[in-house]
Amino acid sequence: MLELTDVVREYRIGGQTVRALDGVSLRVEAGRFLSVVGPSGAGKSTLLHMLGALDSPGSGSIRFLGREIGHLSENQQAAFRRNQVGFVFQFFNLLPTLSAWENVAVPALLDGIGMRKTRTRAIELLESVGLGDRVRHRPSELSGGQMQRVALARALIMDPPLILADEPTGNLDSHTGTTILELLAGIAHSGDRAVVMVTHNPAAAAATDRLITMRDGRIDADEQTAAS
Ligand code: ADP
Repeated sequence: MLELTDVVREYRIGGQTVRALDGVSLRVEAGRFLSVVGPSGAGKSTLLHMLGALDSPGSGSIRFLGREIGHLSENQQAAFRRNQVGFVFQFFNLLPTLSAWENVAVPALLDGIGMRKTRTRAIELLESVGLGDRVRHRPSELSGGQMQRVALARALIMDPPLILADEPTGNLDSHTGTTILELLAGIAHSGDRAVVMVTHNPAAAAATDRLITMRDGRIDADEQTAAS
C-alpha cells in the first residue's frame, strides 16, 4: 500500500538544520497493524505526517497504492487526506456542540455526500464500535473510551485504506486502551486497510503486528511482534 524510499525531511531554525527524517525507507502492506516507537525527537510525528500527506519530504519518494504522494500541491494533499486517510488523535478532537453521529458525519458532509446516506452510515459505524445506544450523546456526555470510539468511527466514514493514529490510547486507562487497540487491530485485519500508530506505550506497541523503532530520524529496528 505504502512505499517510502530514502525519505529526508529537514527543518532549518536560526541557521541550524535538524534532520527529522534521515533517509527512511519502509513498506507498509494492507491488512497490517504497525506501531512506531522511539524516544522523543526521533522523528515519529514527522513520519506520520508524511504518511498522511500533512507534510512533504525534502527528497525521496512516497508511493501510495502506486501513486507518488510526496510532492502534491496543497489542494491535492487535502483531497488525498479527505479520501484516503482516517486520523485518530490522543485527545479525540471531537466537536463539542455536535452529537456522536454528527461528529462521525463531518468528513462525509464536508465532501458533499448527502445527509441521509451519511447519517445512516455514521450510525452503522457507531454500532460497529459498540456505541449504537449513544448516537445522540454529545462528547461531554461520553467517557474517554467512548469518545475515542466515536473518533474511530469518524476515521472510517470515508472508507479510507489508511488509518493513522497518534497516541490513541495516551489519554485512556489501560483497560479502555485495550478496547481501542482491539478495534484498531480489527480494522487492520478486516481486509484492505493498514493502521499505523505512533505510541510511547510498550503495551500498546506489543498489541500490533509489527514494531518499528525510530532513533535520530532513522529506522533503528523493524520487527514482527509476538501478536503478529
Ligand atoms: P517525535 O515525534 O519522535 O518526538 P518529531 O518528528 O516531532 O519527533 O521531531 C523530530 C525532530 O524534528 C526533532 O528534533 C524536532 O525538534 C524537529 N522538528 C519537528 N517538527 C519541527 C518543526 N515544525 N520545526 C522545527 N523542527 C521540528
